[in-house]
Amino acid sequence: TAPVPPACSGATWKQWDQRRRAGPGLQPVFLSCTKCLLKTHKPPLRMGSAGPSNRLRRQRHGVPLRSLSPRGQLDMEGALTARDRVGIQDFVLLDETTEAAFISNLKKRFSKDLIYTYIGTLLVSVNPYKEVDIYNKKQMDTYMGINFFELPPHIYALADNAYHMMLTEFNNHFILISGESGAGKTEASKKILQYYAVSCPSTNLLNTVRDKMLMSNPVLEAFGNAKTLKNDNSSRFGKYMDIQFNSQGDAVGGHILNYLLEKSRVVHQNHGERNFHIFYQLVEGGTDDLLRQLGLERNCQHYSYLTQGECATVPSINDKNDWKSVKNALQTIDFDETITKHLFGIVASVLHLGNVQFDIDNTGHALLDKNTELRWVSDLLGVDAQTLEEALIFRKIEARKDQVLSPFTVDHAIYARDALAKAIYGQTFTWLVNRINDSMENKDSTQMTVIGLLDIYGFEVFYVNSKRFWWEPVQFFNNKIICDLVEEKHRGIIPLLDEECLRPGDATDLTFLERLEEKMGNHPHFVTHKLADKLTRKTLERGDFRLLHYAGEVTYCVVGFLDKNNDLLYRNIKDLMCQSKNIIVRECFSTMDTENKKRPETVATQFKSSLLRLTEMLMAKEAWYIRCLKSNESKTPGQFDEALIRHQVKYLGLMEHLRVRRAGFAYRRKYEDFLKRYKPLCPATWPHWRGMPADGVEILAQHLGYLPDEYKMGRTKIFIRHPRTLYATEDAFEKC
Ligand code: ADP
Ligand code: MG
Repeated sequence: TAPVPPACSGATWKQWDQRRRAGPGLQPVFLSCTKCLLKTHKPPLRMGSAGPSNRLRRQRHGVPLRSLSPRGQLDMEGALTARDRVGIQDFVLLDETTEAAFISNLKKRFSKDLIYTYIGTLLVSVNPYKEVDIYNKKQMDTYMGINFFELPPHIYALADNAYHMMLTEFNNHFILISGESGAGKTEASKKILQYYAVSCPSTNLLNTVRDKMLMSNPVLEAFGNAKTLKNDNSSRFGKYMDIQFNSQGDAVGGHILNYLLEKSRVVHQNHGERNFHIFYQLVEGGTDDLLRQLGLERNCQHYSYLTQGECATVPSINDKNDWKSVKNALQTIDFDETITKHLFGIVASVLHLGNVQFDIDNTGHALLDKNTELRWVSDLLGVDAQTLEEALIFRKIEARKDQVLSPFTVDHAIYARDALAKAIYGQTFTWLVNRINDSMENKDSTQMTVIGLLDIYGFEVFYVNSKRFWWEPVQFFNNKIICDLVEEKHRGIIPLLDEECLRPGDATDLTFLERLEEKMGNHPHFVTHKLADKLTRKTLERGDFRLLHYAGEVTYCVVGFLDKNNDLLYRNIKDLMCQSKNIIVRECFSTMDTENKKRPETVATQFKSSLLRLTEMLMAKEAWYIRCLKSNESKTPGQFDEALIRHQVKYLGLMEHLRVRRAGFAYRRKYEDFLKRYKPLCPATWPHWRGMPADGVEILAQHLGYLPDEYKMGRTKIFIRHPRTLYATEDAFEKC
């Protein structure tokens, strides 16, 4: 039971907020009267709800109040203009539910630059590949505190509704943004973050937190994004960000979880692709002085890690300018000079490492070619040059109490060098995320709720032949057969791959493929090159296998699988890094050491377990969905490639989603919640309803004039067919 606060005679009420239904573990919160500062039980500003009302929010921001016509449509200036009437704004209202009608509606809207369309409360977005003038402050104001369907579909509407619901229902939400690479996921998550930054209440203190949240983006993009064939700014890591709010709806902090960075990119890029942006930014944008200190030349062509893709410069990217933004952003997130110096020291050391070459001695073992690059590496990483050299060409084997140095072949030495480059870069990235989290940490102890933003890559593997090794988060598709095929203990592809990686001796990519064929050659979703002709009439190369996914078939090439899955770093290199004088390196490797006492997890296993943790975390939150579609492959503004769109509509399951929504009664509220919020609208339920919640809701619904086919009474919830009904009630409530 909630403690009863003392009475107060004050006249100005800041906010009254009794968290009776805050749930276990959360204390009721009473905010004080601004005059006497006594905790009080003065009635809330609006009966039956906590958190600022939409009306109040609009007032605070000086945004005009809306005047609603009886049908719930907006007649605010400029809200419903002719261009908004193109096509249908919500697929649920489409006459036909065929795929053709769906795509034609999308196309019609897209041709008028209307890139957003709803399926109920799900938002479909089509990447326009050009600036569309819908993301300004005026638009943000317009969408603040509106209900879905009152205005043309917009990402702000979804962001605002999640926010409003979070405040009124005191629960946590997340927004899942999915779609293939280049579809606009990252842009969407940035738009949402900007919306919250601008439209939540603010104070000076909070502004700093907010700036940090916004500024975390350019930094993480510099270190975690790269140009790929599909997207000039492709995120090569998965990102989940919690935005934390206090009970007044102020954004008070943030927290980021990062998912497996594509570390292999540090040492290898396919043709037409680049390494992570930061390398080019440093080389192009760093001052002469800085480059001198880091031993770098102002020429990307000089570095073997930057030239494999043969596209160091990209027309759409200005590395020099981006460097400036990154430097500014680093300042905002509290990076001082020393730490910045160490950070760029690491970036430079990776470039030097890539240029370390090996010769072969007369016994067939690796020999270091020239020592200049290596000296820079040891200098920048703050480790002893000779020990580093030793670690790159010898492996330390501990036999009883003796230590024996076993020489590497050239291939082994290259492997060790690349493993070190990947490890320092990967660890630094995780360190960066932790640092950013520290700086965005919530200092407000009354933080109550969060909205999570999930921008996850990986869905892209559904589309093209994966010559790279990626694992997709299949959980979201619930295709159990494929899940088992891939991850079932001892029998699935990942466990077999892990086994092969850890098997001493002569394991190769091809022996792995043989194991697969042996174990799952008969599986209906697995196609080996021997069976390919017969089954699908499409031939496979010797090193390929094919999986028949839910979304279509994908061919995987096993070349490089073992290497990419192995996260092996030789012991002596690890030990050396723990003694580094570079603060970041030392910190990273010391924590890595304590975490990995046992056998290190392989890449696939790490990815799988982090996805499992993520799924668990999301289960406890209310979900909102944004599905991003790519309009064409060539990044051309305004071009709508129907075949490409159709494919995405299919694999994102949009038609299934539409059918579920149209089956009706898509809007549901728990009886208690519904009653608690709307009871002031009916004399029979106000101020207290003493009977069963369901009976109270029934009386309330009848009093509100709900027609019998508009709602249904479930076991614990009321189901409402159309959003209109719910919003009419909400509007009545706002006015009351
Ligand atoms: P993803 O994260 O899904 O791989 P991005 O969000 O990086 O894709 O988008 C790829 C590119 O598409 C962006 O760099 C931008 O040029 C363009 N783009 C994406 N969304 C929008 C949008 N809403 N308006 C204009 N251009 C966009
Ligand atoms: Mg992205």
